[in-house]
Amino acid sequence: MRLILLGPPGAGKGTQAKMLNEKFGRPQISTGNILRKSIQEGTELGCRAKVLMNEGKLVQDDIVVGLIRERIIEEDCQNGFILDGFPRTINQAEKLAETLNNMNLSIDAVVDFEVSTEELLHRLTGRSTCSGCGAMFHIASCPPLKKGICDSCGKALYQREDDNRETIKKRLEVYENETTPLREYYRKQGNLKTIQGSGSVEKIFSKVCLMVS
Ligand code: AMP
Repeated sequence: MRLILLGPPGAGKGTQAKMLNEKFGRPQISTGNILRKSIQEGTELGCRAKVLMNEGKLVQDDIVVGLIRERIIEEDCQNGFILDGFPRTINQAEKLAETLNNMNLSIDAVVDFEVSTEELLHRLTGRSTCSGCGAMFHIASCPPLKKGICDSCGKALYQREDDNRETIKKRLEVYENETTPLREYYRKQGNLKTIQGSGSVEKIFSKVCLMVS
């Protein structure tokens, strides 16, 4: 199972990738999470990425392609992986195809989550994330039992620096300009599967499972 989850920020890729990981045991590879970890650790990569991420812009293709190339050759990726937030440009998709081709591998499915801009804005502005396990909460639709604390692991919740209205608008604009051409790219290859990303997380997950298994 080698999957790509495509869709704008807030479409639910991270949530569905986490659920797929729990059900099928394939690692979730989120370039956003890898970059945020580098920022936390204060690495050179983190310092370079931080400014761009806080402005809602994309990190350079060669950086994220390098991260993916290193990650997918790890032992736990042997039976597949779930790419969450990568690729985000045609160039990244081409580099990924080239890398996989050299390994005699290919992508099995690309799941594209469709959600209205209004709903994305609502989701992202009210979103908080667990600093421990990465679980997601929403101030209105999925509040934690105890304010600021994760229901699952008890660690503190935080709001991402780029989850503010101004940066969200930029991220959505960047998505529209740079990432939506990937739909056509994967449609032409015959492995694009489009799914309505609004509604209950569990119902969406059932549909995703049918699409990928
Ligand atoms: P995400 O967690 O997927 O919403 O990503 C957060 C931010 O990390 C994005 O707004 C970009 O600045 C950066 N980022 C994550 N993945 C990529 C990628 N594949 N290409 C370029 N930048 C990325």
